[in-house]
Amino acid sequence: MLSSLERTLFILMALGLGGLTGYLFFGIYKIVRRGQPAPPRKDLVRRFAVALLDVGLQKTIFRSRPILSVFHAFIFFGFSYYFLVNVTDALEGFVPGFELVYGGENGSFGVNLFNLIADVLSVLTLTGVIAFLVRRFLGNDKRLQFNPGVYLHPGVASGGVRLDSAIVGTFILIHVGARFVGQALRLARDAQDDPFMPFASLTANLFSGLSESALNTGIHVTWWLALGLILAFFPYFVRSKHLHLMAAPVNLGLAKQTPRGELDSTLTPSPSPTGIGESSPPHEGVGVRAATPGARTLLDLSWPRLLDGYACIMCNRCHDVCPAHSQGRVLSPSALEINKRYVLNDEFFALARGAAPKHTLLEHIISPEAVWACTTCYACVRVCPVGNEPMADIVDIRRRMVFDGEGIDSGVQSAMESLAKNGNWFGKSKRNRSKWAKDLGFEIKDATKEPVEYLWFVGDTASFDERAIPLTQKVAGVLNRAGVDFGILYNEERNAGNDVRRTGEEGLFEQLVEENLATFGKSQFKQILTTDPHSLNTLRNEYPKYGGKWKVHHYAQFILDLLEQGRLSVKTPLTHHLATYHDPCYLGRYNGGYAAPRNLLKRLGVTVHEMPRNQENSFCCGAGGGQIWMGKTPAGERPAENRIREAITTLTPLANANGYGGQKMLFLVACPKDVVMYTDAVKTTGNEDKIEVRDVIQLVEEAMGVGQ
Ligand code: SF4
Ligand code: SF4
Repeated sequence: MLSSLERTLFILMALGLGGLTGYLFFGIYKIVRRGQPAPPRKDLVRRFAVALLDVGLQKTIFRSRPILSVFHAFIFFGFSYYFLVNVTDALEGFVPGFELVYGGENGSFGVNLFNLIADVLSVLTLTGVIAFLVRRFLGNDKRLQFNPGVYLHPGVASGGVRLDSAIVGTFILIHVGARFVGQALRLARDAQDDPFMPFASLTANLFSGLSESALNTGIHVTWWLALGLILAFFPYFVRSKHLHLMAAPVNLGLAKQTPRGELDSTLTPSPSPTGIGESSPPHEGVGVRAATPGARTLLDLSWPRLLDGYACIMCNRCHDVCPAHSQGRVLSPSALEINKRYVLNDEFFALARGAAPKHTLLEHIISPEAVWACTTCYACVRVCPVGNEPMADIVDIRRRMVFDGEGIDSGVQSAMESLAKNGNWFGKSKRNRSKWAKDLGFEIKDATKEPVEYLWFVGDTASFDERAIPLTQKVAGVLNRAGVDFGILYNEERNAGNDVRRTGEEGLFEQLVEENLATFGKSQFKQILTTDPHSLNTLRNEYPKYGGKWKVHHYAQFILDLLEQGRLSVKTPLTHHLATYHDPCYLGRYNGGYAAPRNLLKRLGVTVHEMPRNQENSFCCGAGGGQIWMGKTPAGERPAENRIREAITTLTPLANANGYGGQKMLFLVACPKDVVMYTDAVKTTGNEDKIEVRDVIQLVEEAMGVGQ
């Protein structure tokens, strides 16, 4: 029980520091509101219920690092429960005779249960925090480090994240530790164990020799350390990474609702701000977004992207899975979010007052080189436990760089020029697009001239790359054999624009969409089929906004359906191959196409031995987001080489154990770009005698006995 002086002091602290914290929270709200509009969020009650359930079950945390996630769950559950514990502790301080040890006045089961949970969770929370502190300060965990050359805000570069972690960790240790010790002191004072507080009872033995007055002083001091410290910590909480505790559920509740494969547009702000998620006015010094697309400063980002900065735990899980970071490049999606947070903190009062940011994103958040290192693989977004989207920032920054003609890679530049002129990035004439379709021994229908059931959208790589063309021809042969009524657009097809959009070239993307839609408009077909996951993604997810609403199939699912319908049949089951399968980002992570290629391979008799990184956790080949067009090959092990190494490591023990007789291992793919990327990687890693890249269509032919 506190003295009246202590109670007055506590109430004054609660009002003063609580008020200051509320003011700082309001500042965050005002800053986030200054972000650009995002597609409106709907169904918020349900979305927040799901977000709270996900947070409650720690679902998003367990997407990676399972062992550390267990420790995080200890802290999360302990800390959440402590909201209740803190209330009862405050009552113990303020209400005469209110004590909960031994089940309170009446020894009720409910109170005993409450005590038991608090006792166990206190120990688990302390265990979790100690584990995190040991890992950060003694463990030398490489995942917490950044590649040389990654741009870091000076506060981060000088160890700000470590200091923040030390402060937050110490706070939790003192807050929870003091409360736990305080309970043990009470038991020692009463010289009686409480069976519902086993850990506190054990600890009480340490204090059994102390006098009653020493124990009472200890109870007072620990009460203040536990509860007074929270009040003192409140204003710092708003500036620290600990803010994720509140910002993460909000961020998850307000997360993107459109498909993963649909990029948010460059939006035009309306002059009448009405609420979060709706319109907000253009900010000072930046101009109207419609005239200047993409992001130059923090406030050109949409409001959810500003919220990301506040939600970030600074855990670096995103850069663990980033192919660019794994290659040693200067991109770290976590550095991007952490830098955002530091700048938001630096300029907090000015931004909340309505001032313009002092620096551009390229000056203070991310380097141009890092912006162009992103493959848009979506792995960082998928793994982030708080729902951040660093990739969306990168695309928005690219949009502005492209608009300003600033720092664009020469290879990307020439690909864009070819795309604008020829509709393909190979620099080849439009007239050559359908050359592959000659001399097949049968005629493919021209969908612009006669009606077909399926329009096969072939894509650039499958049409022009010498390594991919034989595979394209095999697909045509299989479709023909199955009697599928299909056609192509011949030389009228244009690049679908998926990667163009992801390099930030919105104007060219829209031009390609318009040209393709004009051709679609004069053709007669019911559904679209493609072998190219990149084309599939934009046709399926982005063309509908422009009026192109068709069902779009990937060939793996399509051929599987043909087999299941009996329109194709397996002559020789392929049980002899030692194979693994790689999930292309734009089929898998973006469009959930995990089951079809595996079911197809199973149907052909192939056993797929999964690599550790598979399905949602698959590792990018490094081609996406315009990387395939980049003029220079950056130093370091390329993502595709890393992946080939992973495949060989996965399959080699099986080859040795099962006596595959020295046959080559198979690296199976279902994407023309993957064929190109991995065939190269097998060569550059010197593994041509060990492993071979094959497209699933080659196995389909083999199983059907084509050419035998
Ligand atoms: S999208 Fe992929 S390449 Fe780009 S930052 Fe995220 S993880 Fe890295
Ligand atoms: S963006 Fe997400 S995954 Fe990356 S450091 Fe922040 S919280 Fe962690």
